[in-house]
Amino acid sequence: MTGVLRLRRGRARRVRTHPWIFKGDVADVTPVAPGDVVTVVDGSGRFVGRGWFNPRPALCCRVVTWEDEQLDARLIARRVADAVSRRERGHDAARLVWSEGDALPGLVVDRYGPVLVAQALTLGVARRRKDIVAALRAVLGEAAVFWADEATPAALEAFEQQRGWHDAEGPASVVVAEGAVRFVVRLGHGHKTGLYLDQADNRARIGPRGAGHDVLDVFAYTAGFACHALVAGARRALCLESSPEAIAGAVESFALNGVAERAEVQAGNAFDALRRLERAGARFGLVVLDPPPFARSRAALEAAIRGYKEINLRALRLLEPNGLLATFSCSHHVDDTTFEAICRDAAADAGVRPLIVERLTQSADHPALLTVPETRYLKGLLLRAV
Ligand code: SAH
Repeated sequence: MTGVLRLRRGRARRVRTHPWIFKGDVADVTPVAPGDVVTVVDGSGRFVGRGWFNPRPALCCRVVTWEDEQLDARLIARRVADAVSRRERGHDAARLVWSEGDALPGLVVDRYGPVLVAQALTLGVARRRKDIVAALRAVLGEAAVFWADEATPAALEAFEQQRGWHDAEGPASVVVAEGAVRFVVRLGHGHKTGLYLDQADNRARIGPRGAGHDVLDVFAYTAGFACHALVAGARRALCLESSPEAIAGAVESFALNGVAERAEVQAGNAFDALRRLERAGARFGLVVLDPPPFARSRAALEAAIRGYKEINLRALRLLEPNGLLATFSCSHHVDDTTFEAICRDAAADAGVRPLIVERLTQSADHPALLTVPETRYLKGLLLRAV
């Protein structure tokens, strides 16, 4: 028996193309256990879709299908197979399932070589771990699956955060190739599922543009951009990073790629380090700015904008003639127009007139939906000092 969630009048139009239902959209729900399937109907009782319901968070239901079909293990299996079939083959590390982008809201699955790392972001997904793992193995074979849930969604949605192997244990770490570069991924350690896969395409394309130059990799994590630059022939790379675990990972990346003698990582706050570099008159042929999301909420937007502006201003001043700045924002609340305006403001303060060489976004294995703007969260600009 599935419950029925009736939308308030006027809300169905959005929900037909966007899977999120908030408490304020709901007229009433029949009694249903947290995490159960509900049939979503409009104000007149007409079918809209089926989704997973959780009475606890404000975002109380995510629609999984808009067809009048069962929302069961078979549908999950079909969605997983579709998601995998859309991916380009031959990547050692790749996002295979991306939540809303693959019509499996609340589920992330990444492949690192022979291992799959999954994250449950909702109770609906957490209650279906077995079906999900069976679906993954039906498509990919008997892979070891590691759950790397994060604490925040687990608390918000009230499910038990799982960090560990689903059943059979896999290796403690794996080495994966990303183009010409290799990285170590330690299961259960590091940020996200191990690597920032959303930046994989940009690392492989933009890193090598530092060949022959000095490179500054700001907010470096495990030195991904720097390693691509160094392997391609950058003179030197300086990484700025504050997390001890990430710094250890960066040192490991340097050694693994045979670039340690040309690489350095400075521990500490990147804001301070940028100021110091500017005072010292340092210049770089490629600067990468890949900060964490400064605006985690709308309320934090103003402070975030000041933060983005400051780092972009300083980075622009550190460019040698013809130097490149790859600058990013992964804040949902900072859209393309705002981000470009911040960079323009920074350029005005610096008194420089950079060229826009390219507009950048997340890797192709993080598919964005036109009707779900939240799925296109990473934006960037490649600027050239002229
Ligand atoms: N460019 C990386 C991903 C960067 S994620 C890659 O391609 O893999 C952002 C990084 O910034 C995280 O590793 C985080 O630890 C670091 N960080 C956050 N705040 C910082 C600060 N104030 N100074 C330096 N590093 C910071």
